[in-house]
Amino acid sequence: MLGILKKDPIERLISALGKDKVNTSLVERKLYSYDATPIPVERSVPSAVVFPENRDDVVKLVEVCYEENIPVFPRGAGSGLTGGAVPTDEKGVVVSFERMTSFEVDVDNASAKVQPGVVTYEFQKHVEKLGLFYPPDPSSFKYSTIGGNIAENAGGPRCLKYGVTREYVLGIEAVIKEGKVIRTGNPILKDVAGYDITKLFVGSEGTLGLLTEAVLKLIPKPQARATALALFNNLEDVGKAVTKIMTSGIFPSALEFMDRDAIRAVEDYKPVGLPKDVEALLLIEVDGPRVAVEEQIGEVKSLLSSMGIETKVASDEKEAEKLWTARKNLGPALGNLRTGKINEDIVFPRTYLAEALPKLREIAKKHDLLMVVFGHIGDGNLHVNFLYDKANPEEEERAERAVDEVFELALSYHGSITGEHGVGLTKRKFLRWQFGDTGYELLKGVKLLFDPKNLFNPGKVIELPAGYKG
Ligand SMILES: Cc1cc2nc3c(=O)[nH]c(=O)nc-3n(C[C@H](O)[C@H](O)[C@H](O)COP(=O)(O)OP(=O)(O)OC[C@H]3O[C@@H](n4cnc5c(N)ncnc54)[C@H](O)[C@@H]3O)c2cc1C
Repeated sequence: MLGILKKDPIERLISALGKDKVNTSLVERKLYSYDATPIPVERSVPSAVVFPENRDDVVKLVEVCYEENIPVFPRGAGSGLTGGAVPTDEKGVVVSFERMTSFEVDVDNASAKVQPGVVTYEFQKHVEKLGLFYPPDPSSFKYSTIGGNIAENAGGPRCLKYGVTREYVLGIEAVIKEGKVIRTGNPILKDVAGYDITKLFVGSEGTLGLLTEAVLKLIPKPQARATALALFNNLEDVGKAVTKIMTSGIFPSALEFMDRDAIRAVEDYKPVGLPKDVEALLLIEVDGPRVAVEEQIGEVKSLLSSMGIETKVASDEKEAEKLWTARKNLGPALGNLRTGKINEDIVFPRTYLAEALPKLREIAKKHDLLMVVFGHIGDGNLHVNFLYDKANPEEEERAERAVDEVFELALSYHGSITGEHGVGLTKRKFLRWQFGDTGYELLKGVKLLFDPKNLFNPGKVIELPAGYKG
């Protein structure tokens, strides 16, 4: 008797989901094998790219993948900087959430049910028209997605005052091992029942399961905002000024830092009139009721002036926007300086910044590298960029050694190896440094509880033995 021919796993996916949701063309598979990570990472061309349109599609997809041992690589907009959405196994499938883009706002409960493929900016614009506010503002907000932001626990300038994505996720729906669906949380602000699985998914980088929906918290939109620019002739004063502002009773909505080379890079890229002869600058934004905003930005100015720091308040929205554009242009501006860039996002407790900033400069000097530092200094989160020539492997190697020292420095000050970009592929080895052996074993245990076969984004965040099958 003839045996029954076993169906190819990708054919099984096509029968389960429909041909229009499973793309196997080589061009498409190659296109979806990248994200925005600026350094080369381990990558494979996946066997298919899957485009689910609803939760049931995701359930069917995971059922097949779990039975067939197919790795699953979830993807939002692919703007991640640590290789999180990059497929690393040619048998695997990339799951793009770009067709799951609907959301529903509940104005009375100040919350929204959002599918993972919604672009953060589109969502923010919509809720702002309703007088509501969704603060998390990664610089990639115009294209990155809510699913990617939750999976990375993304943050941005405003997170100083309002908190990172984590603070706005009230609940999630996700598909985990074998296609099981879990739902956590509700549009309520108080809920202490059981372990906090919602928050466990925030920052899980696609390694625990596939997010299919989130319940997000919204807050009232601030009435007004104002921006000040402060210029510094030495780095030590920057740390002192940050501590002074943050202990003054004023809570800025953003407190951003750019060092000398960052200022020069943006001025050479798209000039906005920043002075190129200073050591550093701070952009300080306050928001809230109109009257309070005017008063507080005036107080910030006099506080800094009393320290001998030149400070100017933007006269109107247009001038403020110009300053923020300079800050947002930093990414592309740095691309013009050298062909290679390693961009890290370490965190220091604020009080150590005055000491740590000059030490970062020492690391760059020791390795003879061009280093540009900028970032969300109010919460101690700095983007440290080492720039090098890709055609010079020796210089690239020096940059890699310098990065190790930067992480050691951050951890020696009780900081973190990442405040925004996550661990992904590029920071795996450093995670163990931060957690220690016992902590790392716990992380592994959590991962395997949700994904005993190690099929959700394998090889990211946690290192399990190659081919781990549970
Ligand atoms: C120019 C630029 C500026 C940036 N600025 C910032 C910044 O200021 N702050 C900041 O935090 N980040 C920043 N980033 C990094 C990046 O934009 C964020 O990490 C963002 O959250 C990624 O969203 P994404 O939709 O592109 O997700 P992707 O890059 O596609 O994926 C990110 C991670 O989420 C997982 N994932 C995606 N969707 C799902 C899902 N539905 N279920 C489970 N897992 C999922 C992926 O597997 C991956 O691990 C920046 C990137 C660029 C290129």
